[in-house]
Amino acid sequence: CGIVGYIGHRDAYPIVIKGLQRLEYRGYDSAGIALYDKELKVYKKAGKVADLENFVKDVNLAGTIGMGHTRWATHGAPSDRNSHPHSSGDRKLTIIHNGIIENYAVIKETLIAKGHIFKSDTDTEVLIHLVQDIQAETGLDLLEAVRITLTKVIGAYAIVIMSADQPDTLIAARKGSPMVLGVGKGEYFIASDATPIVEYTKNVIYLNDNEIAYIKRDELVIKNIDNVIQTPYVHELDMKL
Ligand code: GLU
Repeated sequence: CGIVGYIGHRDAYPIVIKGLQRLEYRGYDSAGIALYDKELKVYKKAGKVADLENFVKDVNLAGTIGMGHTRWATHGAPSDRNSHPHSSGDRKLTIIHNGIIENYAVIKETLIAKGHIFKSDTDTEVLIHLVQDIQAETGLDLLEAVRITLTKVIGAYAIVIMSADQPDTLIAARKGSPMVLGVGKGEYFIASDATPIVEYTKNVIYLNDNEIAYIKRDELVIKNIDNVIQTPYVHELDMKL
């Protein structure tokens, strides 16, 4: 339902939590975050963003890369384990997702037959297991493995992926579900609408359907699902703060 991401030089946690609060107006049943600081950390809870904040109040929330999600359940009841982010079997990859993966059941069956063990009832979890599976089988880099994964998916999505093996990178993609990138100085913001971004930058890129963004602190590459590099168009937001 709601997506926020950050990569830059500031602490990600306060930016991500504030962004999730700004998206609360959309309604949701659960909230979760992922941060990277020496390791990939995932915290998620059914309930309000305030419940998530309370849940993490005693843990180390360092990290200048992170993402957060508020879930509106479509597949799997609202619960801690169905909340996003969802991780791959080896816990090295984690994903947040808005939308619905229509053919998740077929993909899930195939992956279970290959030994994958799923921890949730969501459609979302199959995406990240499939990325891991494709990487394991082909040795492709993360961006390419995500692109191949998305060619196998039917449905609507806005997704953000983090990887413990590539902790300086966020990967974002969309099809049929909105996604905005905020462009700062040595930092990027990601959100499902511009409300969490406007207080930091007016320069935004609206990701188009079938585009995948590879985002580092000082580099942004956008490709389409057919592997063609896209030239991003930076809009200037005209919004009163
Ligand atoms: N289909 C996903 C789920 O049920 C994402 C729902 C959403 O857009 O929040 O977990």
